[in-house]
Amino acid sequence: METTEQRIQIAVQKTGRLTDHSIDLLERCGLKLTRSKDQLICYGENMPIDLLLVRDDDIPGLVSEDVCDLGIVGLNVVEEKRLTRESEGRPAQFKRIYELDFGHCRLSIAGPEETPYEGPGSLENTRIATSYIGILNQYLKSNDIDAEAVFFSGAVEIAPKLGRAEYICDIVSTGSTLKANGLVEQEVLLDSEAVVIQTQKPLAAEKQALVDKILQRLDGVLQVRESKYIMLHAPKAALGAIRDLLPGTEAPTILALDGSDDKVAVHVVCRENVFWETLENLKAAGASSLLVLPVEKMLA
Ligand code: ATP
Ligand code: ZN
Repeated sequence: METTEQRIQIAVQKTGRLTDHSIDLLERCGLKLTRSKDQLICYGENMPIDLLLVRDDDIPGLVSEDVCDLGIVGLNVVEEKRLTRESEGRPAQFKRIYELDFGHCRLSIAGPEETPYEGPGSLENTRIATSYIGILNQYLKSNDIDAEAVFFSGAVEIAPKLGRAEYICDIVSTGSTLKANGLVEQEVLLDSEAVVIQTQKPLAAEKQALVDKILQRLDGVLQVRESKYIMLHAPKAALGAIRDLLPGTEAPTILALDGSDDKVAVHVVCRENVFWETLENLKAAGASSLLVLPVEKMLA
């Protein structure tokens, strides 16, 4: 077995919202994993890649300090750690390299329903409870707002009820937690999703080649998630109109149909979801024998 130095270490959230998606994505890249007895490491059986299962807040630090080569973590956490480290005079040693299209959420400022809000100026001279001090302070500074960021490590949404702050700044996805606490979202500071970060230290050529391979496979996995293979018959005269209706496609393959001079078969990969409406519109444009198939793997 290779020594740790030759294996790639990827930091992944141990238990939480990102865990299943992160592991599932890596498995779909062809990685076969076995969990250690203490559940702290997943060993790659068929590739020299191991996952370190940790708290999401520790992931930027582990990558920055070179304990891990890569990490999968929310952009909200990445940005907060980057700003905190910068303010402490030790800039982050990681680069954000890839967006993964899961873990979507936003970091927003919200206030009580009964508080009149007339734009960012309403935040002037207020207290804002948050665990995202770095991002909030950056927002306040760049908008020239004089307000106090009050640190809350959890249950930020109850701060206004406790009289500890006038507003909160926290992660929102559906908005149901805010609603349940009588709060209204007012400003979006950051749109977030899970991202891959990589250490800024140059990797040995072999390791970098493996990282590139994994990223290329990730790209393929993300693309096929929505992609469909469409087959249909089309009158030659309607080809232009039909092509215009196909969402997110490259050049289609046009095949002759046995015994038909005016119709052809069209095969095409659509990189977006194909809805019933699209099929109905294609049919209305003259297409027939429509077939939509899932795409299993793709390598551009
Ligand atoms: P840990 O124990 O690892 O510190 P945590 O409680 O900080 O876990 P989770 O609640 O599992 O973290 O959220 C992990 C990430 O999921 C967030 O940092 C954010 O990027 C993303 N996320 C997506 N939707 C939401 C949401 N509704 N609330 C909180 N985080 C969300
Ligand atoms: Zn966390």
